[in-house]
Amino acid sequence: MSRAELPVVAATTSPDLVGLQATLHESFGGEARFDRLSRALYSTDASVFQIVPVGVLLPKSEADVVAVVKACAKHRVPLTARGGGTSQAGQCIGAGVVLDCSKYLNRVLEINATERWVRVEPGCVLDELNAELKPFGLQFPLDISTSNRATIGGMVANNSSGTRSVVYGKTIDHVLELTVVLSDGSVVQVGPLSESEWRERCGRRDLEGRSYGVVDRLARQYGDEIERRFPKILRRVGGYNLDCFTDRRARCRWGPG
Ligand SMILES: Cc1cc2nc3c(=O)[nH]c(=O)nc-3n(C[C@H](O)[C@H](O)[C@H](O)COP(=O)(O)OP(=O)(O)OC[C@H]3O[C@@H](n4cnc5c(N)ncnc54)[C@H](O)[C@@H]3O)c2cc1C
Repeated sequence: MSRAELPVVAATTSPDLVGLQATLHESFGGEARFDRLSRALYSTDASVFQIVPVGVLLPKSEADVVAVVKACAKHRVPLTARGGGTSQAGQCIGAGVVLDCSKYLNRVLEINATERWVRVEPGCVLDELNAELKPFGLQFPLDISTSNRATIGGMVANNSSGTRSVVYGKTIDHVLELTVVLSDGSVVQVGPLSESEWRERCGRRDLEGRSYGVVDRLARQYGDEIERRFPKILRRVGGYNLDCFTDRRARCRWGPG
């Protein structure tokens, strides 16, 4: 079946587009596209699915991303981030707004060759990162076959790996820290925590603290079941990595401890 024959899934709700655009007009400095052609272009990824978004937003700064998240929350419009669009299961298409980080937020910000780490924007393409790292004799080791399109943001969200993942691991094994915009627009840093730092975060009353608290509670309450039922395989994307947070969490360095 060709893509033209596939059913086009339309938004099931009627988002407040006029309100959304008015809010964005005040706060968003990036590129906003609500025309039919752009919406059609962003209605597919590398999957068989097709969902036409109500609009496409291309942020130029972190402040733009925050503005989009806040505007979508305010007007209750679903938000789907997008990098290279190479997902094979429809992860980066959606009926609300698509947030494309690949056009402007794609820079390598800092390379520390001595400590062997790099700081990038989410839309940075893997091959372009590796081209910048090459003079230092370094590379981001995951060799996914879409490396000339795939972005680091998309790789993080998909926990991408590659043909040599048995040797090099998955994206999560190479991420030191993330700057994340939460659904209320707050910007937080996430990364490995000590037990005391973990407890301190769980005790906070803001959205960040409540998020840690939920994970902590789920891991404690369902620890045995999580241990029993999570597949013991190297490459796994589903399940929010809850198995990193149970008492027997030795497999992952992102859990507390
Ligand atoms: C032919 C082919 C071969 C492939 N080979 C491999 C392979 O060898 N190994 C492998 O692991 N994968 C493979 N993939 C899958 C895919 O290429 C990878 O998962 C890739 O890393 C996705 O990157 P992307 O930038 O295209 O992400 P997208 O597809 O654009 O997005 C992926 C996910 O990330 C989210 N996202 C994107 N940017 C952000 C952001 N800034 N903030 C929060 N969330 C974000 C999206 O919402 C979506 O859920 C392959 C795909 C194809 C089509």
